[in-house]
Amino acid sequence: MGISTESIVSYGDTPVDPVICSICHGILWKPVTCAECESTYCGECIDTWLQTANGKTCPKCGCEFKGIRVSRVLLQLLSKLQIRCGHTPNGCAEVLFYDALQNHLLECKYEVRCSKCAALYRKEQGHDRNDCLEKQMKDQNDAFQTRLTDQQVVIQNLEKQMKDQTAEFEKKLAQHQDALQELQRLGQNLQNENNKHQGKSF
Ligand SMILES: [Zn+2]
Ligand SMILES: [Zn+2]
Ligand SMILES: [Zn+2]
Ligand SMILES: [Zn+2]
Repeated sequence: MGISTESIVSYGDTPVDPVICSICHGILWKPVTCAECESTYCGECIDTWLQTANGKTCPKCGCEFKGIRVSRVLLQLLSKLQIRCGHTPNGCAEVLFYDALQNHLLECKYEVRCSKCAALYRKEQGHDRNDCLEKQMKDQNDAFQTRLTDQQVVIQNLEKQMKDQTAEFEKKLAQHQDALQELQRLGQNLQNENNKHQGKSF
């Protein structure tokens, strides 16, 4: 997701259009450019786009998307933007140039990421043992659910295989029974012929 245009304090002399992501309509964040049409999207936006049912194509030109590095000109346009830290709701009032924002977000004291459970929390609010355990348990539960679903798929596949094999076996059995009947019929015919011949010779 791009940066909300609401957090832009100043565009400097940068025009708005070239720095907007046409997928999320925010300011381009960690952008990637289409090799074909040179449209630029946030890295995350285009990744999500490519992973969904939209195919592997560029939303703008429809060509198979191949990402290239963003042009120097665009990087320069972006570097002039002044942005309020996205953690403003948590109390951070810092305004940073575009290029400094990424580092600030990593160290902004108004939002901290727990190294144990990866939860985000406000420094002044804290994140105690109970919060952490709760999040860890939820993550574990989610992981377990995913594994369970995977196992169910495996079982379904095995069941399908077994069904196919049974069907194949039944088909072969029927063929053998037909062949056996044919043999019995031939045997009977031979017997009849034999009887006829015997009848003649006496
Ligand atoms: Zn975007
Ligand atoms: Zn394109
Ligand atoms: Zn901040
Ligand atoms: Zn935690």
